[in-house]
Amino acid sequence: MYRKFATIVLAVFGVAAMSQAADRAVLVIHGGAGVIKREMNPGTQKAIRAALTKALEQGYAQLKAGKPALDAVTAAIAVLEDDPHFNAGKGAVFNHDGKNELDAAIMDGATLRAGGVANVHRVKNPILLARSVMEHSPHVLMFGDGAEEFAKTQAIALVDPKYFWTEKRWQELQDALKQDAAGQHADAEKEGHFGTVGAVALDKDGRLAAGTSTGGMTDKRFGRVGDSPIIGAGTYANAGCAVSGTGWGEFYLRTVAAHEICMRVSEMHQPLKQAAEYVINTEIPKLGGDGGAIVLGADGEFATPFNTEGMFRGWVEQSGKIHVAIFPGE
Ligand code: ASP
Repeated sequence: MYRKFATIVLAVFGVAAMSQAADRAVLVIHGGAGVIKREMNPGTQKAIRAALTKALEQGYAQLKAGKPALDAVTAAIAVLEDDPHFNAGKGAVFNHDGKNELDAAIMDGATLRAGGVANVHRVKNPILLARSVMEHSPHVLMFGDGAEEFAKTQAIALVDPKYFWTEKRWQELQDALKQDAAGQHADAEKEGHFGTVGAVALDKDGRLAAGTSTGGMTDKRFGRVGDSPIIGAGTYANAGCAVSGTGWGEFYLRTVAAHEICMRVSEMHQPLKQAAEYVINTEIPKLGGDGGAIVLGADGEFATPFNTEGMFRGWVEQSGKIHVAIFPGE
């Protein structure tokens, strides 16, 4: 009798423990919330899922080797920056003048150190430069030519701006310019943001980090800076919470979205999922914006809310198991 009871108890608690472990992650990434269903043919989906998997594998390899969360974030983002499917690094979108202007930021939750770059156009991997700004300069945010001068002192790879030219992004700009000309500027803006990349990670010492990298929004005006490189808006991490956002950046700036989520978690002690949902799915849409975010807590709890047709995303469970997803409910 006792044995039978013990078996049942073990079975019930075993399942509960397993499902809890599956709900916890050490690395979460996104590749943008601007998924447009009609563009998601099986070939594109497969390539994107493969890229997300590769980014998760490389990020997780850092954690497994005992490296800090910052290394996992940097490694995962660099993979996505090199993949033309995402609006960051190689696949960055074009601004109104047909140029690429890239933004990125990284933050260390344990120390609140942060680094960002905005409006760079020759840096192959802006996340690496953001990290250098954090670690090797007295500054937090560097812009344009000055940031690229600094890159030279840091042995960060610079490329010819032509490196960022891709047919797909060029066509997207042409479509947006046509919509502009037809007076549909708001529609063009709404559809112009997608494919930004980001990562949040938790290392073996319980430290969190967050990073984001983007080409911004198609057809943006020369000099426009979005939320991604702005600490607190698109990127934020503290001891209990790490966030990378993606979406219509102006609204993330106005709601200081990433910081707002973390304050709700760390200071107001709201459940992480509830805090993330509220900012992304209530506050931002209330103002007319849209998008998503990835959020990770110090206990591995995470959330990936979005209010668009999908968000490219993935996570690594504490056991090392990898998941990737695009559409709601996956
Ligand atoms: N948030 C980015 C920006 O506004 C765009 C995106 O996430 O797709 O620059």
